[in-house]
This record gives sequence, structure tokens and C-alpha cells, in this order.
Amino acid sequence: MAHAPTVLIMGPPGAGKGTQAGHLVATYGLLHVATGDLLREAVAAGTLLGLEAKSFIDKGTLVPDDLIIGMIREVAAELPEGSGLLLDGFPRTRAQAIALDKMLGVLDRDVDVVLDIRVPHEVLIKRLSGRWICRTCQTPYNVDSRPPKVAGVCDLDGGELYQRSDDTAEAVGTRLEVYETQTAPVSGYYRDHGSLVTIDGDQPSDEVRAALDAAMQPVTAG
Ligand code: AMP
Repeated sequence: MAHAPTVLIMGPPGAGKGTQAGHLVATYGLLHVATGDLLREAVAAGTLLGLEAKSFIDKGTLVPDDLIIGMIREVAAELPEGSGLLLDGFPRTRAQAIALDKMLGVLDRDVDVVLDIRVPHEVLIKRLSGRWICRTCQTPYNVDSRPPKVAGVCDLDGGELYQRSDDTAEAVGTRLEVYETQTAPVSGYYRDHGSLVTIDGDQPSDEVRAALDAAMQPVTAG
């Protein structure tokens, strides 16, 4: 591998980021930093950050930039040197993207590639309403398209499957709207910087994976 890459995975809720992030982490040895997972851990642990973030998460709106940027700053400070990084769910606003550039600059790193997964709105609604996630390893399942072998149990580690509190019809609608208005413009930011690769997420998971691998090729070659 040429150097420790910094990779972003973007896409609306339900685009398959969680599934594909697992593949990218396993294949390219990246450290996975998913802001949604970190926030849910903070809520479960009852930390100050968790208490401040909970109402935003439950409504499906964005947690304020300063809280998220502070959280990522702590991750960046503890990043092992030479470690490849996969940022998942961050940045979600232009202000977060600018803050990330500054943090990476201090570490003498750059965003190498932004994997932007696109999926039509109606497909997302269907995926999110049938989604169940493993409490232990976060693997997502879907009652229609990817059911577990045993209902309510993770195929991989036997963990309990649960439905996220923000996968309700109301919060899903808000999250998709927030994505369109606040996060989709971040793609434009990275397109201007030349690091954006658009991936069709409305195809079988293997094909999405192959498209992601192709996009990773220039980053990991050499
Ligand atoms: P996710 O698991 O990525 O869908 O994130 C779940 C929720 O966490 C989002 O709906 C937001 O409320 C919050 N969240 C996660 N990442 C961010 C971020 N980068 N900026 C603001 N809020 C975030």
C-alpha cells in the first residue's frame, strides 16, 4: 500500500454504508470511525456528549457541528501513526468538511477518496423500515432482502438484533430530508477537490463492493 489512506464513505441513510464499510475495513485494514456508532455508544454510556446528542438523533436531525467536530478531534488525536482511516457518516455538513481538512492538515494527511453511494429515495424508505442491526457487531440485516438465518439473531456472532430508535417512519423522513439539504452538498465540496467517486448503490451488494474496490485501486496501488 502506497501510504495510509484516508477514505470517506458517504451516502444517505440506508445506502449500505455499514455493510460496505465492513468490507473496506477488512480488505484494506482501515480504522473504522462511524460517527453514528460513536454517538449511540455515548448515549448508551450516558456521557455528557450522549445526553446532548440524544434528542437530535431521535428526531433524525443533525447533532450540532461543534459537538461532532470535537468528537472527531479526539479521535484524530489518538489515531495511531500510519493507520489507514475510514470515516463513515462524517463529514455531514460543509463546516464539518472544512474542519476535517484542517485536522488532516495538522496530521500531514489529505482525503484520498470519497466514496459517494447513491440510492433512489423510494428504495431507501423500504430498506430502512425493514432494517435490523446486530447489537454486538453492528452488521445490518433486512427482513426482505437480507434476513438473518434465525429471526432476531446475528448470523455472524449470535448477537441480538435490534431496530434503531431513529428507523421509525417519522425519523426516517426527517433523516432523508436532512441528507438532501445539508449533506448532499458536501459531495459538491469533494467533487471540487477532485476526490469524489460516485457509486451506484441500487444494485446487488457484490456489485457495489466491486465498484468500491475499483475506486480504491488508485489509492492503494503502488
Ligand atoms: P448514522 O448512524 O450515521 O445514520 O447517524 C445517526 C444519527 O447520528 C444521525 O441521524 C445524526 O443525528 C447523528 N450524526 C451522526 N453523524 C453525524 C454528523 N457527522 N453530524 C451530525 N450528526 C451526526
